[in-house]
Amino acid sequence: MSGAAPSGATQHPGSDHPWLPDLNWAPVAPFWAAAREQRLVFPRCGRCGRFQWYPQDMCPDCRVMAFEWAEVSPSGYVFSHTTLRRSFVPHFDNLLPLEIGLIKFVHAPGVTLVTNVLDTPAGGVHIDAEVTIVFPEVAPGVNLPMARLC
Ligand SMILES: [Zn+2]
Repeated sequence: MSGAAPSGATQHPGSDHPWLPDLNWAPVAPFWAAAREQRLVFPRCGRCGRFQWYPQDMCPDCRVMAFEWAEVSPSGYVFSHTTLRRSFVPHFDNLLPLEIGLIKFVHAPGVTLVTNVLDTPAGGVHIDAEVTIVFPEVAPGVNLPMARLC
């Protein structure tokens, strides 16, 4: 396995997080700009209201290209989760064990956000646990969404 950054990501070995998004990558640039402002946004079809994550040009429901970025409540719940105990890419060793959650949102149906779960209790994360998405600054100017248990 190479140490190359995943597509759309930039390596920042000096930061608290080894892989960071390319904030200027057009398909998701509004997401990162909102994250910097501590806001959660997802694309929503301007015609039928469907949320779509990850972004795409055409709505799979109504076949219109009318997605707009809509702010949603950062309140969500754990749909599923896993604990990463082994690093398969360089620079993650110091973050292990790392709790990863699939987070869903009542106010953004259809969206699943894959992200870190912060402050995992000794008993572990439970399915349906309520979370709030927070946006810690992990490198200068880079805020990543992470789920904090309520
Ligand atoms: Zn639509």
